[in-house]
Amino acid sequence: MRVLMLLMWLPQLYGQGSPKLNPVVARMVGEVSRERIAETMGKLASFGTRGNFSAVDDEGHGIGAARRWLYAQFAAASPRLKVRLDTYKVKKQPRVFKDVEIVNVVAVLPGTRYPEQQILVSGHYDTLGRLPRPPVKPGEAPRPLTLEEEEKRAAAPAPGVSDDGSGVAAVLELARVLSQYEFEKTLVFVAFAGEELGLVGSRLYSQRAKAEKQEIEAVLNNDIIGTEVSEDGRRINRAVRIFSAGPGDSVSRQLAGYVREVGGRYYPRMEPWLIYRPDRFGRGGDHSPFAAQGYAAVRFTSAVENYAHQHSDSDTLENASPEYTANVARLEAAVAASLAMAPKPVDPTVTRTAGGRTVRLPDIGRGKASYDTVLGWKDPEPAPDLAGYAVVMRATTAPYWEREIFVGRETSYTMEGVDMDNYVFGVKAIDVEGNESVVSVFVAPAGDSNYKRKVETYE
Ligand SMILES: [Zn+2]
Repeated sequence: MRVLMLLMWLPQLYGQGSPKLNPVVARMVGEVSRERIAETMGKLASFGTRGNFSAVDDEGHGIGAARRWLYAQFAAASPRLKVRLDTYKVKKQPRVFKDVEIVNVVAVLPGTRYPEQQILVSGHYDTLGRLPRPPVKPGEAPRPLTLEEEEKRAAAPAPGVSDDGSGVAAVLELARVLSQYEFEKTLVFVAFAGEELGLVGSRLYSQRAKAEKQEIEAVLNNDIIGTEVSEDGRRINRAVRIFSAGPGDSVSRQLAGYVREVGGRYYPRMEPWLIYRPDRFGRGGDHSPFAAQGYAAVRFTSAVENYAHQHSDSDTLENASPEYTANVARLEAAVAASLAMAPKPVDPTVTRTAGGRTVRLPDIGRGKASYDTVLGWKDPEPAPDLAGYAVVMRATTAPYWEREIFVGRETSYTMEGVDMDNYVFGVKAIDVEGNESVVSVFVAPAGDSNYKRKVETYE
């Protein structure tokens, strides 16, 4: 079977150099169901509120009932999904008015070849209601709320269909569709809690992941992907915003580029708008704690938000668009599946010793002729179905890769007469089915610390 696939794809990959669609990925995209997504969004609203301080033991109301339902849904999707509750005891602190248990729901689909390498797909299932605060007299600071007032605010109705029932519905739908297939890497589907308390669930999860040296290759976070009409009447239903933190060639930006490139290849009706900033002004999301730990993480969000409904009792199914959510989920299915089937990203660095110090530098140089660009990279565990590597390049001012050169299975490449100072270079691995890794960038050197060295002078 593998050999047959090889014969089918090799001439196309080597011959034309244009990207190939993997029919298996295309099939998964087609299996995402708008109806199931609408059902999940409605069901999540039916718990009345999923506030972090709401009921934990009521049968049909509050956050406890919601997470038991989510757990059951993940478990029913496939016997291969390993479902668990990721629980933290969080003390009273700013934004947390009393001690509370924060419980993330986690469903793991173990990878067959690189089980340690994880692709995370996430949303948050907790919600926030809104009640008026006590009036503040001019010139006076707002007084702290009494415990009774805090409890009352915490119990406010918060159906949270767009924020973030939509994200959770996409996560659950991707778990349902993708768990019917096998992937080389591990897919982890997470419904976070505590997001509305200041990203508490994702902070704790990402800190633990970092401490345990978990290899999280990508975090695809979905938060507010349920609206396509803003309060002022703008409708944008063919685009989704992808937020990513810098600097310019950060791993999160490369992941955003992957969403645009690969997502756009399989589901072009949804246009990823890459927004080169961590998030919207003054707002946060569960991708950010992962990015802060050095993981590649992006946020999917509606192209237009409806601020009137957010954090209120009108964030309902009637005011949301499951069709829009399904379209975001289709785009993301292509991205998550491709990442999980693709070879691991390659290592474009080299270790050098200079002045008694060992440093890791991008493996890029001018070559013997001094005027060439010579790139090298390491692929410690080359995929058995590896077709080869592609070098990508762009002008330093360009937002996206401009040129792609398939270079076969060599792990170095010389571009004669190309001045390395004037371009950004990257490299990715591609398998025979056309699945490609995220681009690893030959990152330009940061500011030279030599300039900080004190210059001695004399009188
Ligand atoms: Zn949210």
